[in-house]
Amino acid sequence: MPELRRDPILDRWVIIAENRGERPGAFVAGMSMALPPRDVAFSPLTDAIAPRPTDVCPFCPGNEHETPPATFVLHDEPGQTDVRGWRVRIVPNKYPALLAEEAALAEPPLGRAGSSEPALCVRAPAVGVHEVIVDTPRHIMTVGELSDSELTDSLAATRLRLQALRHQTDLAHALVFRNVGRAAGSTREHVHGQLMATRQVVSLVQAELTAAKQYFDERRQCVFCRVIEDELAHNERVVCESPAFIALCPYASRLPYETWILPKRHASHFEQIAVEDLADLTSLTRGTIAKIERLSQPPAYNLIFHSSPFDSLSIEHYHWHIEIIPRLTIPAGFEWGSGWTVNPVSPETAARVLRG
Ligand SMILES: [Zn+2]
Ligand SMILES: [Zn+2]
Ligand SMILES: [Zn+2]
Repeated sequence: MPELRRDPILDRWVIIAENRGERPGAFVAGMSMALPPRDVAFSPLTDAIAPRPTDVCPFCPGNEHETPPATFVLHDEPGQTDVRGWRVRIVPNKYPALLAEEAALAEPPLGRAGSSEPALCVRAPAVGVHEVIVDTPRHIMTVGELSDSELTDSLAATRLRLQALRHQTDLAHALVFRNVGRAAGSTREHVHGQLMATRQVVSLVQAELTAAKQYFDERRQCVFCRVIEDELAHNERVVCESPAFIALCPYASRLPYETWILPKRHASHFEQIAVEDLADLTSLTRGTIAKIERLSQPPAYNLIFHSSPFDSLSIEHYHWHIEIIPRLTIPAGFEWGSGWTVNPVSPETAARVLRG
């Protein structure tokens, strides 16, 4: 079962989750690797098991019993159940990387029983929530295939689920993301997202929060608002905009065609989005995703929501946003070794092509 371990040098956390390797068929195709002792292989970032011809899709109607019972359901009509008439289902991940507190505390520590460890080895129970967002009962494969109403429903369900989770006092933050396409870590065909709520704020969001706070303290302005202002004025990296949202390729894009979607007006938490803005966000996101999906066949990208921690209703220095990372290149030695990336497509070219 999963546990959190702190890197004693960089003070960052990793989740060790051998149970994720227990998923039937969970492997990285075409890649040979040393197997853990129980003869299971793993795909650390993938979100689902590789479908075999005989597999039933656990996300299709009629197969609801293949997943744990839903924690949130959006229905066609009130009064319907988890297994009938649903439009969006949010269900616990069957192979979670995070566990409810009781379950996490009940787990014995990994490693040799009773062995003492060096003082620098700090572990913590992997407490949190790990859920799957089944966007639609239709067996389709990409976000781009969702209709306007399906994507709006999915965003609305995510918003409501986050609003419920933020009242859970042991949770600090939630990361919502989607892996679309095998190259982006998904091996389950049926389109879906994931939600991982943790007791600590994840490293990348924490780094953004810290840097944005520093900028705000010096200039009394949200750095994201400033970026939006500048990009609209220069218009070189803007992909598209709607009344309330903008899509742009960030100035220091890490990877080819990296694209961010941000609300134009300052807003720190995605779950605080007004219901009337969901249709606008849907239309801009669908438009942007359609462009991203044309970049490769089959499409492969990650779509990640970065939003503020749960401990505040609103903050001035952080601005929620969506980061879309097309997976057209494979991070290699330099990227792993340096923490930098080499991006062969400038964001100016990327935005021009995407506007195309
Ligand atoms: Zn399906
Ligand atoms: Zn802002
Ligand atoms: Zn971000």
